[in-house]
Amino acid sequence: MADAFEIPKRAMAIFAHPDDVDFGCSGTLASWIATAGTHVTYCVITSGQKGTHDPKTTPEQMSETRQREQRAAGEAIGVKEFVFLGHQDGELERTMDLRGEVCRVIREHRPDVVFTNDPWSHYQVHPDHRVAGWSGLDGVIAARDHLFFPEQLTNGLRHHRVSRVLLFGTRDPNIWFDISSSVDKKIAALRAHKSQVGGRRGFAERMRWWAKNTGSTWKLPAAEAFRYIELA
Ligand SMILES: [Zn+2]
Repeated sequence: MADAFEIPKRAMAIFAHPDDVDFGCSGTLASWIATAGTHVTYCVITSGQKGTHDPKTTPEQMSETRQREQRAAGEAIGVKEFVFLGHQDGELERTMDLRGEVCRVIREHRPDVVFTNDPWSHYQVHPDHRVAGWSGLDGVIAARDHLFFPEQLTNGLRHHRVSRVLLFGTRDPNIWFDISSSVDKKIAALRAHKSQVGGRRGFAERMRWWAKNTGSTWKLPAAEAFRYIELA
């Protein structure tokens, strides 16, 4: 199925925390950027302010560190644009305000394909991952029609239709992309999140095993798997 998938000119990933995109889909994005020059935007909903075990580190310091790390990780695979919404880590709620923010980012950056967390993933225990997925999908639906958040449509901003969505972190994949040519870039991107993965022994080997194991279903040497939804 992935063979028939047309690589988009523009893609966006909408996700809860710095690093979610790199675990979820940076191998696929890296290969699209390298082979087709896809323009990629990251929309990072929280700044990962709670991602530390060090009692001396403040949420503000963590926010600065993790935004910097996410930018470095994206730049390592050729991502061009970064939007940080700055919400509080661990405290995301599914609100109309957040839906509107995501809708605006989609209208501004006009992706053909959106990646986001799978909000239906069974036993997804992290509330931010569920809310990010809902907000990504709800934002896609809101962005496409002019009567949703009509106050946004000033100064040339127009509604925008996203026709394809790929959900990562899914337990029900229906599409796999070969990342054997980009798995090294995915690992390099993940390593940019030093505050999260720095010092983890055997990390690269685990990531390689994960990609290999994901690909084994479809006899691919290394893969990322997604739930693919085409929107009419
Ligand atoms: Zn996360």
